[in-house]
Amino acid sequence: MVTNAPITEVIIQATAVSPGIAIGRVYPLRHKFNADIPADTTIAESEVAGELARFHRALEATRNELQILREELDRKLQNGDAGIFDAHLMIVDDRGMNSAVDTMIRDSHKNADYAFFRTSERYAAALAATDDEYLRERAADIRDVSGRIRRHLQNQTAGNEDLPDRCIIVAPDLTPSETAGLNKDKVLGFAVETGSAVSHTAILARSMRIPAVTGVPQSVLEQLSAADTVIVDGFQGKLILHPDPRTEEAYRLKAAEADKVFSALRSSAVRPEMKDGFEIQLSGNIESAADLSELRAVGAWGVGLMRSEFLFNRPQLPDEETQLAEYKEILAGCSGQPVVIRTLDVGGDKFFSAVSRSREQNPFLGLRGIRLTLREQQEVFRTQLRALLRAGVYGDLRIMLPMVTNPDELDDTRTLIQSCQEELAKEGKEFVRQVMLGAMIETPAAALTAHTLSEKADFFSIGTNDLTQYTLAIDRSNDRVAYLYAPSHPAVLKLIALTADAAARRGIPVSVCGQMAGDPRYTALLAGLGVHELSMDAGAIGAVRRVLRGISMADARQAAMQALAAPDARTALQASCKLLERSAPDLAALL
Ligand code: PEP
Ligand code: MG
Repeated sequence: MVTNAPITEVIIQATAVSPGIAIGRVYPLRHKFNADIPADTTIAESEVAGELARFHRALEATRNELQILREELDRKLQNGDAGIFDAHLMIVDDRGMNSAVDTMIRDSHKNADYAFFRTSERYAAALAATDDEYLRERAADIRDVSGRIRRHLQNQTAGNEDLPDRCIIVAPDLTPSETAGLNKDKVLGFAVETGSAVSHTAILARSMRIPAVTGVPQSVLEQLSAADTVIVDGFQGKLILHPDPRTEEAYRLKAAEADKVFSALRSSAVRPEMKDGFEIQLSGNIESAADLSELRAVGAWGVGLMRSEFLFNRPQLPDEETQLAEYKEILAGCSGQPVVIRTLDVGGDKFFSAVSRSREQNPFLGLRGIRLTLREQQEVFRTQLRALLRAGVYGDLRIMLPMVTNPDELDDTRTLIQSCQEELAKEGKEFVRQVMLGAMIETPAAALTAHTLSEKADFFSIGTNDLTQYTLAIDRSNDRVAYLYAPSHPAVLKLIALTADAAARRGIPVSVCGQMAGDPRYTALLAGLGVHELSMDAGAIGAVRRVLRGISMADARQAAMQALAAPDARTALQASCKLLERSAPDLAALL
């Protein structure tokens, strides 16, 4: 809600998705992800270079995608029919069309999406109007390729080199792959229209420790010019435009206070031991080996979730050696502590140009995670498994499968693992022969059949971000239904309890690695439900450890029992929040 006039200070209430305070100059990004027909958008002179670069990056991503598709089809057909992609590649490299787009961006100050759409349509329309059948078909090719380019264009933010130093991005949307590519040294924070606290964009922001808010109204971009000062309050979900000097000063003090509380919590010397001696393991969620030093600094016990898909966030697929080097660095860096690496989880809200896949109406219910790797990307999967098996000799590796709904998915993966091991043995390469294979419990189907899955899985990790989305029928990246998104909904809690119970009966470990694990309001609840391990961003470990040390397992079990019997999510959380207030009042005050 806008509560003030534009020229003076404007306070916008948004949704807090990544804690922290950022104060800096705004960098407005005016493109919109998923917009089919781009609007006629005029840009400032200072944005021209960024838009030109974005257009050329989209061309490059399309070129790479077409080359991969051509190679794949070549392998399948072996008769040269993949030549259709050569024609498409020529369109991507059409100098006349591309320089017309450049001119429109540079001279008419149109954004890249609109300039490209107008230009390519002009070319296609001219060909479609001829009498020559061959040329008319080329018009269809242009439209086909330009659809691809536009999709990549909508996936491209300004590159880091185009961003000014110490800026705050305000945009309609940032995709997970764009967020992962942000340079933390340049971007102090961001505010976007779409997304919720458990969208992958938000997850990445937290793990990169970039303060962020979502749900800002569309009109905000119109009120901003490049280099205006803005404040992102990632604790209380506020975006402040044109702050007056007193507000700026108050926020500087708040940022210093938050730094003090969180630095005190970082101390890694103490164990996550509860008052009656129970211990809950606290491990880290990471995207790459670069996140390890922070995990060590806060005293995490190994890695509970490595989201390996972010390794695929590059124009070309990472080959076996590239993956091996990354996994090896993580395993060696954890000095024998457990490292859970999740296999490629593409789909839902995560798309990377290196992993080709078709568009779907409902990507969250589509060929996502283990479904995609087993059905359409087996070669990519085999490469990943081979790299993992080879890296396994450097530490305590555990492989985890995302989006499991059937025991077959574990059986089929074991068969693939075995075949990769046979291959590696023949090649004389070193690899692990025994590796734990776990299932993520992210769907009601998996939780309700956890007793069956426990016959096939060596461990469970509950992905509460997805479990909540699929149980409550709420798209986790849709800010319009974010008000209903509640991991403490008794329906979700019952599924967690069922999973923990099935794991206990079989004697296998069970962890939670969704966002809930790193939120101190849920700590008592999860401990009381029987979860052995909580895996979270490094930034959350200190707070969760502090809560655990201030409560007993007896208190936690009582809070869990009350929650399971509660009528709704808010009531379910009450006992757990009371324990938080009692054990860590200063922390409770910040949340
Ligand atoms: C989850 O779903 O809770 C999870 C940890 O996986 P992701 O957030 O990557 O989907
Ligand atoms: Mg998930």
